[in-house]
Amino acid sequence: MEGLGFVWLGAASAAGLAAGFGLGLLWRRLKKPKKAEALSEPFGSDPSVGEGHRPPSGVALAAQLLGLAKTSVAARGAVLLGRAPGGGWKVIAADASTRVLRGRELAAREGLLGLAMESGKELAADPVQPGALPFLEGAQGPCAALFSPVGLRGETRGMLVFFRESGSPFEAREQAAASKAAFYLAGLEAVFAHVERLEGSQARQERVAAGLERMLRQADPVEIAGSALDALFDLVPARAGFGVIHSTRAQYHALVTKGFEAPTSFDRLERATWAYWVLTKGGEPLYLDGAAGQETAMPLLYTGEQFFPDKGVALILPLRGTGDSIGVLGIVGSSASPFHEQDRSMAAFFARQTGALMELALLNMLNAEMALKDALTGLFNRRHFDEQIRMELRRSQREGTVVSLIIADIDHFKQINDAYGHPAGDSILREVAARFRAAVRDVDTVCRYGGEEFAAILPACPQDEAARVAERVRLHVGATPFSVDAATKVTVTISLGIAAFPKPVSSGLELVRAADAALYKAKNSGRNRVAAGPA
Ligand code: GH3
Ligand code: MG
Ligand code: MG
Repeated sequence: MEGLGFVWLGAASAAGLAAGFGLGLLWRRLKKPKKAEALSEPFGSDPSVGEGHRPPSGVALAAQLLGLAKTSVAARGAVLLGRAPGGGWKVIAADASTRVLRGRELAAREGLLGLAMESGKELAADPVQPGALPFLEGAQGPCAALFSPVGLRGETRGMLVFFRESGSPFEAREQAAASKAAFYLAGLEAVFAHVERLEGSQARQERVAAGLERMLRQADPVEIAGSALDALFDLVPARAGFGVIHSTRAQYHALVTKGFEAPTSFDRLERATWAYWVLTKGGEPLYLDGAAGQETAMPLLYTGEQFFPDKGVALILPLRGTGDSIGVLGIVGSSASPFHEQDRSMAAFFARQTGALMELALLNMLNAEMALKDALTGLFNRRHFDEQIRMELRRSQREGTVVSLIIADIDHFKQINDAYGHPAGDSILREVAARFRAAVRDVDTVCRYGGEEFAAILPACPQDEAARVAERVRLHVGATPFSVDAATKVTVTISLGIAAFPKPVSSGLELVRAADAALYKAKNSGRNRVAAGPA
């Protein structure tokens, strides 16, 4: 990623973005395949045989993607099946840890595989008997399985199969991730098929494969965009390039530049730019050939840009996966060496793969974040609390600092539910969570500890300081009544217990017990107060 510029804007813009899309965007910153075989077989030859430096084949890239997809889908294994010469199926690739029977041809229309193929849709089942996954090596018990067709222009070209232990069927969001992976794989086949039709295909295929491989090694959307620009520079005579990532769903907005730096004041994509136009309207790549100011009234990326020369050419490519548009890639060259038709179609294929991978990466980020958070309040969940407290106690021992813990419980919450209903109770719970979060430092971890219980880990915070923080939280929650509806306001109070580590308690378990005991004390001595432990 050498020479890549970054604009990574932090915080506070998501709402502005959702509201202000039309006004401009606000930004959060951030084995050499044997030719004959590659020609006859879309995914190339088996990558496992090779010596020295060899660019990856389609099969190797597919296997790499399967490794990523396996994680996204939380599967034990991922296998890609393709058409076999006899009209049935055979294994094309598998993730690195899955042992498969290669070479065996599977009947085309039998079982779940046949069903998924005919419907052309994802199919999840649990349990499936080992016979339904005949391409797996070794003894298998019953599994949960997910079949995701790999299709191109309405034709099912392959089947992506995920499996894991029976008893945890694949969920809708995992099926969504599987279909994104299938979209990538369908495109991968198309890229390889396309490159073979071009002149000098061997060298090009190597460069394309190397570029795709670099991208597959990145988990971060910004890094993926950076690698995509590197690869495009390798494929076409570009002198400057940019990648715009705009995902409302993932609240991820970033600009990556190569060969120039965007001004530090850049914090939004103006409406009157070609990048905005392609992002919002363009299903197709846009090629601009000629002087920036003459043929095109709009700048590419921002007013006053210097990277698009008078005699320049530019190609702006939409990034999209299976869903909405999620960004653009732009490359700029000079009219003296314009981007030829071949270059442009190659770049378009490449952008398609970038979009597919980016979408998968954004989904992974969302899923990873969701796995740590409680759905109702958006606070961290109990599992994250358990991990975080262990980490903070280790750090406290290493650095000789005090960690304090607050455990809080809403007072008489049952009565609130009884009086106003459970949905109103939920909305109060959310608001208490928000007030709690707002009353502590950014470094403090606030978790939903149980139903209407909260816990906050305060690193580098002595107990007397923690008592002041807890008092602030108590006031923040209790001082302003909560709106149940337009006519009804209700005052809600909380009781809090605090304890500190390493003195007087000396383990995580004791710390939690001491804070719990203090909370009990606060409840018993009248509620709506802070008490310190151990008792
Ligand atoms: P106190 O803590 O002051 O002793 O009284 P309390 O009424 O709050 O008693 P307790 O903490 O034992 O009660 C917890 C109540 O919180 C019971 C349960 O119905 C309610 N609750 C727990 N989780 C949720 C939730 O997610 N939503 C709603 N609306 N209520 C919840
Ligand atoms: Mg409780
Ligand atoms: Mg309570």
